[in-house]
Amino acid sequence: MSQKYILSIDQGTTSSRAMLFRQDSSVVDVRQKELTLHYPHKGWIEQDAEDIWADTLWACQALIKAQDPSLEQIAVIGITNQRETTIIWDRKTGKPVYNAIVWQDRRTADFCAGLKNKGHEDMVQEKTGLLLDPYFSGSKIAWILDNVEGVREKAEKGDLAFGTVDSFLLWRLTNGKAHVTDVTNASRTMLFNIQTQQWDDELLALFNIPKSLLPEVKDNIAEFGTTAPDLFGKPLTVGGVAGDQQAALIGQACFTKGMVKSTYGTGCFLLMNIGDTFKKSENRLLTTPAYRINGKTTYASEGAIFVAGAAIQWLRDGLGILKHAADSESMALQANPEHGVSFIPAFTGLGAPWWDPHAKAAIMGLTRENTANDVVRAALEAQAFQTQDLMSAIKADTGHDPAVIRADGGLVENNFMTQFLADILSKPVEIPKNAETTAQGAAYLAGLYAGLYDSFDDVSAAWQQDRNFDPVMDTKHRDAHLTQWSDSIQRVLN
Ligand code: ADP
Repeated sequence: MSQKYILSIDQGTTSSRAMLFRQDSSVVDVRQKELTLHYPHKGWIEQDAEDIWADTLWACQALIKAQDPSLEQIAVIGITNQRETTIIWDRKTGKPVYNAIVWQDRRTADFCAGLKNKGHEDMVQEKTGLLLDPYFSGSKIAWILDNVEGVREKAEKGDLAFGTVDSFLLWRLTNGKAHVTDVTNASRTMLFNIQTQQWDDELLALFNIPKSLLPEVKDNIAEFGTTAPDLFGKPLTVGGVAGDQQAALIGQACFTKGMVKSTYGTGCFLLMNIGDTFKKSENRLLTTPAYRINGKTTYASEGAIFVAGAAIQWLRDGLGILKHAADSESMALQANPEHGVSFIPAFTGLGAPWWDPHAKAAIMGLTRENTANDVVRAALEAQAFQTQDLMSAIKADTGHDPAVIRADGGLVENNFMTQFLADILSKPVEIPKNAETTAQGAAYLAGLYAGLYDSFDDVSAAWQQDRNFDPVMDTKHRDAHLTQWSDSIQRVLN
């Protein structure tokens, strides 16, 4: 029998990617295109939804063409995507009525604060596991309905569709036949009750959003639709979908209660598998479905930090003190370890566990002796401090202190960062052989749908460690670092 491939679409914040996986988890080939972010006003972040589609389609087609004539070998498609990013389109034309509003966008901060002041946060958290923050889709949908001319009337008539990026791609891939999403993406809209697993009328009323906009919600392994025949030369079934962080949890094989993964890409997202019982966080973390298989939900506790690698990008593009992100490692190693600088990357407010949409980034503690190297080092150190804040909150919430964490994402290429992370967490950090855990997670879901894998046991067996970082820092230095960090955080909170 000939080898079967899985086509995995990974539509991220900074790029759209298509990857072809073999059944043994090895990668055949990749195509990728950078995606432009638009900043029309302070705090606003948008993308052109047509770019998202065109780049994704190009990546898939280029990949398939390069493999020609083995199209027959592609068994199934998996999709993973930047979560929360909000698109509304016309059901007749398929055209978006406004740009995609990106998850980092803060334009609805006052609206969310208003709901919080009216005392709605408890109800929202009880139903969705989320906290009232502009991060999630609900307030972004409401903004489009209330601010783009003619949109509310069309929505009330049932002429429009809302979707997160997975949903929009599925609509386009199936030529408008499928208006669907999966439970992990639905759970980030703030309109989906993760306990009853239904769109929630009380939440829809709170945000004043017509139910007709919403997609059907499926398990992570399901038939999501079949691609239009003209796109790829033959119709292909989409059999697995998950939001990027849940896909990474799957790619990292964190299937046992208490296992943790932390992804360092544009932002940093730490998820711990908490098993099959919903538990509301008492420490300002999120509760989110990790995955739902055959109708059975496994939950995760999530810490979301908005800026991780994006701080390195800013040092490169905004400040110009780096040529390439990778240079940050050698610069950090040349810095004075006792530099005294704190870098708080609150460029888009602060996420967990602070949730302050108005906080601003700051570089503190500078003296004349400091150099660019020290600032770069402080930016990398910040990743570890932010992660430690999340680990403390998880421990307080669950009473569980994980023995190790599995880390991935672009930033884990940086060995200074990963060693400092192990030092500050005071626990080993494991880096997997396959760094593309997100695309891999979606591929596993699709492969399970297509019968290429039997169960998550196959995925656990395929996980392999590449590198491991053990903590070496003494307690005195660690405590001094953590004290300086917590003092600095207090200064940027609004
Ligand atoms: P995303 O999936 O969110 O687009 P990636 O996982 O591809 O992000 O990671 C890209 C991020 O990692 C960028 O913000 C980049 O600045 C950062 N990055 C990549 N390589 C390094 C490195 N060697 N050192 C520090 N940061 C890096």
